[in-house]
Amino acid sequence: MRKTKKQLSADKIPFAAAWRLNKKGLAFWWRLSPQLMTANLLTALFGAIRPYVALWFSARLLDEIATARRPDILTKLALAALLTVSALAAAHCVASRQCTRYTASVNWFGFKRRFAQKLSDMDFSRMDAPATHALYDSIMQADNWHSWGLRNLHYRLQDGFSGLFRVLGALALCVSLFASQVTAAGWGWLDSPLAGLGLLAALLGIILLAPYCARRSAAYSSRANEEATQTNRLFVAYGNPPAGTDRAMDIRIYRQQEFLPVKMETGCKMFNSRTGLLAAYSRGPMGAFEALSGAASCSFTLVAYLFVCLKAWAGAFGVGAVTQYVGAITGFAAGLSQLFTTAAKLQINLPYLQKALDFLELPNEMYQGSLNVEKRSDRNYDVEFRDVSFRYPGADAWALRHVSFKFRVGQRLAVVGENGSGKTTFIKLLCRLYDPTEGAILLNGIDIRKYNYDQYKAIFSVVFQDFQLLAQPLGQNVAANTRVDAARAVNCLRKAGLDSAWLDRQPHGLDTWLYRVFEKDGVEISGGEAQKIAIARALYKNAPFIVLDEPTAALDPVAEAEVYAGFDALIEDRTAIYISHRLSSCRFCDTITVFDAGQMVQSGTHEALVEAADGKYAQMWQAQAQYYV
Ligand code: ADP
Repeated sequence: MRKTKKQLSADKIPFAAAWRLNKKGLAFWWRLSPQLMTANLLTALFGAIRPYVALWFSARLLDEIATARRPDILTKLALAALLTVSALAAAHCVASRQCTRYTASVNWFGFKRRFAQKLSDMDFSRMDAPATHALYDSIMQADNWHSWGLRNLHYRLQDGFSGLFRVLGALALCVSLFASQVTAAGWGWLDSPLAGLGLLAALLGIILLAPYCARRSAAYSSRANEEATQTNRLFVAYGNPPAGTDRAMDIRIYRQQEFLPVKMETGCKMFNSRTGLLAAYSRGPMGAFEALSGAASCSFTLVAYLFVCLKAWAGAFGVGAVTQYVGAITGFAAGLSQLFTTAAKLQINLPYLQKALDFLELPNEMYQGSLNVEKRSDRNYDVEFRDVSFRYPGADAWALRHVSFKFRVGQRLAVVGENGSGKTTFIKLLCRLYDPTEGAILLNGIDIRKYNYDQYKAIFSVVFQDFQLLAQPLGQNVAANTRVDAARAVNCLRKAGLDSAWLDRQPHGLDTWLYRVFEKDGVEISGGEAQKIAIARALYKNAPFIVLDEPTAALDPVAEAEVYAGFDALIEDRTAIYISHRLSSCRFCDTITVFDAGQMVQSGTHEALVEAADGKYAQMWQAQAQYYV
């Protein structure tokens, strides 16, 4: 596995790298939805300029009322104000509606789907690695906690645009503030460039102070996020189990309702309102910086008022212009502060953004061949393991060592061995969920890595030991698709041991929903029924190879006997690989392969293996036979 890039702290990410990250993040959103980004931009634009336009008109109206008071001019001004401001308000409304529209589908659904898609598209070995899960958890945790990561960038985009437009609009309205000359004697210094620069310097100082404090405050919240990841994991593990019916029985029998809250309370200390980390931050530096940030913003307004009122007092402009300048300077400050705050938040967001992008860019390293898997009507495929050894990524021990053997088409192969002997690993390699660390697996004499991966996967049906059915209609579960060939589904269910009498008992036949998660008249099926449905799903796929991993573990002895009796009819001309540690269930297989500590130690028919008295198989057979005799 590729080494994960060292996560940098926000302060240490150089500007060029930060720029690249944000550009990539924006490209992500643009690909996801250009409409959302455009709607965001327009919402910010119309939202920012509308108050300035209103301000400009009201200044003109006030000036006219305070001076000439001409009714025709007043009427024209009022009408123009009404029309322009209404048009801008309507445009803002339309743009923000579009934002809402796309936010629901893109920001929530599309965004999460992109991550889910990545998880299902990545190499299985990477998906299976604990480091990938840790990375994914920490991305989702940061996203839940103030949307740090990609989503934060998306929110900041509208903030940034809005800040920019507010600053530009204010500057346009303020040009005449500096150009207007005072008329009163002794106040000429107010017109000097120095006075203007002094004002700007004071305002800038205050403007910088506000976001600086806001950033310091937000940094504490971000710091708490690191601790919250662990806390939230605990919360998910221990906070909600009574809601899941799968754990409810254990909880009652073992009185876990008393034990779990203790676990949670000790683990989730950070949320305690007296001693918790967040409480301490709020009482201390996080709260103080937030208060200081608010105070700085207020003092800005005071300084601006002072300068504008002094110039008006000295006769530079009238009362209408006073409202225009005060409003514009306040808007300028708010816009600039919004820009700085956005920049500060973007900076804090960088490590989270980097994590999210790193995850989305995780490369698929499994070699993807292009050779077509020959579609053979005679299903004449033969598979060979040639000196295959395998170690799980990051593990020291070999899970399989020097495994070599061939199996023929149409064969019934049993793989037996104690727990941990490597049976499931063998299947994972066969289905190319992992590639061998050493050696090769061949299909019809060609290394399986050379085949087109999807076509290769298509030749296997597997009923995994811990298979999962979906809370969806029965027929769709069997077809693994929303389109269901009903006759074929019924036939497969029957072969798997769920006959028409059973199907008739289901309230809506193939349309019966499994489980009651989404449908109140869904059916709760037993473990045995679930296993049979999983077998039916494997048969429906109609692949040349069928792999059954402990397929009868959840069946009662009668049902198990039925499966064995009907095994040939079930499997038909498929090549079957049957994994079990119950040896009695493997007798009907042509070849039995025995795994022990990752090695294939024996192979042969049941009779031959039982006779090899000092072999592993005979030992296991003796140990298990006592329960059957
Ligand atoms: P079996 O199916 O015979 O019970 P497995 O093939 O599941 O055995 O396991 C073989 C060995 O590989 C065991 O030692 C097991 O602990 C190890 N193993 C299985 N899965 C993983 C994994 N995802 N990561 C690391 N080691 C694993």
